[in-house]
Amino acid sequence: IRVSIESTNPATGEVVGTFDETSSGDREAHLERAVETFEEWSETPIEHRQQLLSAAADVLRENSEEYAELMTEEMGKPIGQARDEVEKCVWVCDYYAEHAAEHLDDEVIASEPEARTLLSYEPLGPILAIMPWNFPFWQVFRFAAPNLAAGNVGLLKHASNVPGCARAIEDVFREAGFPEGAFTTLLISSSEIDEVIEDDRIAGVTITGSDGAGRSVAETAGSQLKKNVLELGGSDPFVVLEDAPMDKTVETAVQARLINNGQSCIAAKRFVVVDEVYDEFLERFVEEMDAQTVGDPMDEETDIGPQAREDLAAELHEQVEETLDQGGECRLGGEPMDRDGAFYPPTVLTDVPENAPADREELFGPVATVFRVPDEAAAIEKANDTRFGLGASVWTEDLERGERVARQFESGLAFVNELVKSDPRLPFGGVKDSGYGRELARDGIREFVNRKTIWVQ
Ligand code: NDP
Repeated sequence: IRVSIESTNPATGEVVGTFDETSSGDREAHLERAVETFEEWSETPIEHRQQLLSAAADVLRENSEEYAELMTEEMGKPIGQARDEVEKCVWVCDYYAEHAAEHLDDEVIASEPEARTLLSYEPLGPILAIMPWNFPFWQVFRFAAPNLAAGNVGLLKHASNVPGCARAIEDVFREAGFPEGAFTTLLISSSEIDEVIEDDRIAGVTITGSDGAGRSVAETAGSQLKKNVLELGGSDPFVVLEDAPMDKTVETAVQARLINNGQSCIAAKRFVVVDEVYDEFLERFVEEMDAQTVGDPMDEETDIGPQAREDLAAELHEQVEETLDQGGECRLGGEPMDRDGAFYPPTVLTDVPENAPADREELFGPVATVFRVPDEAAAIEKANDTRFGLGASVWTEDLERGERVARQFESGLAFVNELVKSDPRLPFGGVKDSGYGRELARDGIREFVNRKTIWVQ
């Protein structure tokens, strides 16, 4: 029997597309094909694999508008941001098309006198990628570009609400000329994932998503002794010191919280502000948050579209209500909007008590929590007082001070006077409950490879 999955436009509730789930027979055929393709693909000269990545970048450029609209329809991001996302996918393909070979070059450790010793980087095999809906193209390309360049093949289990994007990405690689089986989309439910991870033909698994899903994947992968990379949530602090350049700080704070309708793992979620500038920051921040336009994500003027699913908007609102019940103050927003679709307004919470959801959990939507702290030392302590450790930023005119603070953050990424962002040239990943392993740059392409030590005497 064929099971269908539908994708729904969260701005309107309308069905965008209907797709057949991958049957168990098809899944079996895809896994078999992945192994066969890997045998050839891993032997293909890396220059050829790099050329095909350039071709994938061309396909993305040619169809940019179509892909951007598809993302906006399926998960509600503002259309301009969707176009930027396609552009970023082009960038990561171009980046590895240019740098993959140098990142995987043999690393000679010694050439004499005892022996010639070196490290060679060899692909592992078919890698399963479990991906989320928030950046439905970028998260996938961030995995696919380095791994395909390295000689691995990819199988994608995308989030259930973006099946159209999942299919479109598979088509990008097909159109670019990658062999059948180099990149395959499996439209399966999350209950089938364990079986795939356990399958002998799968060599490794990477997931971007919630820490709950990450734990489950890590457990299964661990029981099979399979390499895994986890890029999980975050509750990034945004630390404002008394000498912060206030115009840029406020402007970036709003952007850092609201990008992608507030649904980014590296969005700033906890604003930690020293007493001296707290009132000024809060007043200007609330004003700017309030000035954002919420509306149809296809409209060029819209700053904030709907949340990606109704249930996610409802869950966000529960976290806000629970925080207010525990004594938090609401300075802006805080009530679902009186309109169809999964819309949630820009919201600012203050005076949030320790252990309230807005203090402890990830708030995946346009809700900012602002904390008042006496000084820099207290700011660092508050910034680190979380089980997450993905990104963090600090705002100060004094760059030496900024760097010193950045070094004290318990996070995988620390930015001074810039919003935390991913960049193909820089390793990306977290510590603590935000996961382990790195994506992008040289580190990212070396995750799913055998770093083989060779001794020649
Ligand atoms: P999930 O973590 O549930 O979904 C992410 C991906 O993991 C999807 O492909 C999903 O498939 C899959 N998945 C879900 N459960 C399991 C499991 N037990 N084992 C293996 N894979 C699984 O995120 P949600 O969409 O439910 O969002 C909930 C929260 O997760 C958000 O509010 C946010 O806090 C966090 N999140 C963080 C992201 C990040 O960028 N780090 C991205 C997305 C969410 P399926 O869709 O079929 O369930």
